Amino acid sequence: MDDIFDVAIVGAGPAGLFAGFYAGLRGMKFTIIDSLEAIGGQVAAMYPEKDIFDVAGFPRISGKELVKNLGDQVNRFHPSMALGEKVTNLIKRADATFELQTDKNHQIFSRTVLLTLGMGSFTPKKHPNMDLVPYENKGVQYGILSLEPFKGKRALIVGGGDSAVDWALMLEPICSKVTLIHRRDEFRAHEDSVKKLRSSRCEIKLWYELATVRGEGKVEQAVVFENHTKAEETLNVDFVVLNFGFQASLTFLKDWGLTLEKNKIPVNPKMETNMPGIYAAGDIVTHPGKLDLIATGFSEGATAINFAKAYINPNERAAPGHSSNLKW
Ligand SMILES: Cc1cc2nc3c(=O)[nH]c(=O)nc-3n(C[C@H](O)[C@H](O)[C@H](O)COP(=O)(O)OP(=O)(O)OC[C@H]3O[C@@H](n4cnc5c(N)ncnc54)[C@H](O)[C@@H]3O)c2cc1C
Repeated sequence: MDDIFDVAIVGAGPAGLFAGFYAGLRGMKFTIIDSLEAIGGQVAAMYPEKDIFDVAGFPRISGKELVKNLGDQVNRFHPSMALGEKVTNLIKRADATFELQTDKNHQIFSRTVLLTLGMGSFTPKKHPNMDLVPYENKGVQYGILSLEPFKGKRALIVGGGDSAVDWALMLEPICSKVTLIHRRDEFRAHEDSVKKLRSSRCEIKLWYELATVRGEGKVEQAVVFENHTKAEETLNVDFVVLNFGFQASLTFLKDWGLTLEKNKIPVNPKMETNMPGIYAAGDIVTHPGKLDLIATGFSEGATAINFAKAYINPNERAAPGHSSNLKW
């Protein structure tokens, strides 16, 4: 049982990485497993170039800087990391420890498990018009990994949530023109971002939707329509960035014995799931007042780890003490 971990953290997004740091702080033997080849979860995979303004202590930080800092913070404890490995099964054993199985035929044993799976996968919801498919990565984008190609170009952003508004604001200073279309007249984004958008150079077209795109081998035009009148307009654009959210298939969690509520794992204030010894944190969880933010994932991860510590040894206090009192 020498190679048994105190906690196996599944998911190396912000919640999992910060939880790993806390596990190190509490002297727990931990491992972090992620199906992606690199750490950082959504931040690294979807918006490394975007600036983030709502991480405590950082008035402004890019996605990639935040991920680097989280990596540096957890790496001081030299954790075992299994990247590029998807956890495919989780079994509670007769001795109440857990066995995690990965798609690389790897077995990991642990006294507790922390699930920080985010949305489980990164499949963006696609536009229903199949005519857009040949233009994917030729102007039609479901995320932005580099801002470079957008310099001096015309971009159409589709959507009214945080991602759409954030991308419009990021692209506005570098594109020659940014147009944002949204099928309603109310945004689902941070009020402050919407305020910035309204006073930016971006053209906003409310009640508009995307019909199709046109072009020779790459996007040259987007056809949009006003959804009351159905009147069409053709816009000359180089990029169309669609932000319809992501599809998540997390039903496999039920096979592991976990309760799901609308594709999320319900947790109590200790971040315990319905299965004793299995905790969850970050975007994957639901509880009253839950918000899907990096800041909330940090707090939930720290809470989960501290209660996992007390679960393993009930003589331990959940409260960690202050990190400044530790010898570094
Ligand atoms: C475009 C965009 C902009 C955003 N901007 C902000 C912002 O400005 N501020 C903010 O607070 N939030 C923002 N968010 C939200 C923020 O990114 C998420 O709240 C945050 O990433 C959630 O962190 P997490 O660790 O819970 O999950 P994730 O970041 O989703 O990480 C989960 C990890 O789990 C892994 N995983 C899943 N299933 C398995 C499995 N079976 N086996 C192994 N690994 C697995 C995934 O590969 C992934 O790496 C934004 C999101 C998007 C899409």
